[in-house]
Amino acid sequence: MWTLLILAIDAIILYMIVPFVITRILGWGVVSRGNAAKEVAFTFDDGPDPCYTPELLDLLHEHDVKATFFVLGKKAEQFPDLIQRMHREGHQIGIHNYTHTPNWIYSPWTNRRKQVDRTADIVERITGERPILYRPPWGLLNLGDLVLLRRSYRIVLWSVMVGDWKASVSAAQIKHDLLKKIKPGSIIVLHDNGDTPGADREAPLNMITGLEEVLKEIPRRGLKGLRVDELLNKEASRIGEARSRVKHHGQINL
Ligand SMILES: [Zn+2]
Repeated sequence: MWTLLILAIDAIILYMIVPFVITRILGWGVVSRGNAAKEVAFTFDDGPDPCYTPELLDLLHEHDVKATFFVLGKKAEQFPDLIQRMHREGHQIGIHNYTHTPNWIYSPWTNRRKQVDRTADIVERITGERPILYRPPWGLLNLGDLVLLRRSYRIVLWSVMVGDWKASVSAAQIKHDLLKKIKPGSIIVLHDNGDTPGADREAPLNMITGLEEVLKEIPRRGLKGLRVDELLNKEASRIGEARSRVKHHGQINL
């Protein structure tokens, strides 16, 4: 009896707690921020939503910000026009599972086939482009996901989160917290849908109102909102520039 209990606890630690520590605390195997000098990435989870996503897309267009949407496959199937619009307007589309279920309850093979690849197929059918980014619901991965999913997808978490899924968090609070926390290289997680477990249906309204003020302010701080892939490419090009400067100096010294 005790042996079984100890084995079960060990299995839970290995399957759930170890990947949590690896990804959320050590940041291994995932991207949580960029190393950019002037850029940040706004990301939106849980959509598309027929009420809030169009309003959000209008706002991003008005402020010339490109963002990343981590969409649910089931909602993408329901609202393909919104997926098409995101793609047409230059935003990046990543995957957030087919339904908003935690990866801890399934095997990594089931997660990959029934949640992640299934959603990638749906988005690819709509846009003609296969997503390469993945964010698990609640940022929770199991041990096998870290191996199986990383073969085909870059796992993206976040560095800034402000509780915008709760209607009790006001637009003013969202604005205040975002402006306080955003720094160059930040990956900001927000939510354009309030249907998921633990969220409030009307919460995205506060998010959009607060975000509008933030988008007015960030250019004054010299910051620009880009897609996650662009944020990471900026980082790569900065590293490339630094390397070529080193090389150049080396040549001068010779
Ligand atoms: Zn989510």
